[in-house]
Amino acid sequence: MGPLDESRMMDPSPKVLDAIRFVLVETTHSGNLGAVARAMKTMGLRRLDLVNPRSSPDAEAVARAAGADDLLATARTHRALVDALRGCRLVVGSSARPRTVEWPLLEPADCARRLLAEAREGEVALVLGRERSGLTNEELARCHFLTRIPTDPGFSSLNLAAAAQIFAYEIRRAWRADAEPPPVASGWDPAPPEVLEGFHAHLAQTMVDTGFCDPAQSRKLRQRLRRLFNRARPDRVELNILRGILSAAQGRKTPARFRKTDSPTDSRGQAAEVSEE
Ligand code: SAH
Repeated sequence: MGPLDESRMMDPSPKVLDAIRFVLVETTHSGNLGAVARAMKTMGLRRLDLVNPRSSPDAEAVARAAGADDLLATARTHRALVDALRGCRLVVGSSARPRTVEWPLLEPADCARRLLAEAREGEVALVLGRERSGLTNEELARCHFLTRIPTDPGFSSLNLAAAAQIFAYEIRRAWRADAEPPPVASGWDPAPPEVLEGFHAHLAQTMVDTGFCDPAQSRKLRQRLRRLFNRARPDRVELNILRGILSAAQGRKTPARFRKTDSPTDSRGQAAEVSEE
């Protein structure tokens, strides 16, 4: 893990999201302004900049914002894109179409990670284009990267706010991945190896007792079963249930015998303790 990663681990603050601005260029429909505000706010983003909007944040915008109209109220309006990008160290432009001139292209998830990483150092922007024509080549040329949401090649243009939602969600996902340790189901305590050994021994003995096979003869079978239970990572209660079933299959159910099979097995994981009973 490099120094950048470490600093990211130590900074789970939502403040970093405030360094990310969405810049809408010449948006025609006021409803889209509201819908973008909503898309952003649901994901914890607040900074909205409008370049020459063709409609003002009117009642339709407020209705579509559905409670995110505070973002419309604090949105800043600019006459030119360069003004909206002032102070930004990184600018990513979004486009539905591949452009004739090759430009570094990011997948939405990589775009989100890069925006976040640089937002820890300064201001960054994602630029979204006009409903009809997107961004001009001159506007895209001001961007360090382009990003495109992969779509059906024959129908690539999302509604402006739908595109904004996808980018905002990817940013939140990337932010959460940094801010939170990988999710572990709470209250889940996988059984320790010695308990699992007891289970495998019991399972092996049951296979012999029931006439299924003698696993001592097949390394492959033993490995497959190990792999299965390592993948599932059962907890003690789950193993106890399985062992109850094994005991029943063996024709014995008394708790005393049940406990006895928990005792440590030898290094080969043999079922000696179980079979003694
Ligand atoms: N015909 C326009 C589509 C405009 S849709 C074009 O070719 O770009 C309005 C805006 O939504 C786009 O400018 C872009 O910012 C965003 N958008 C729509 N679909 C997108 C996609 N598949 N990938 C990235 N951005 C997209």
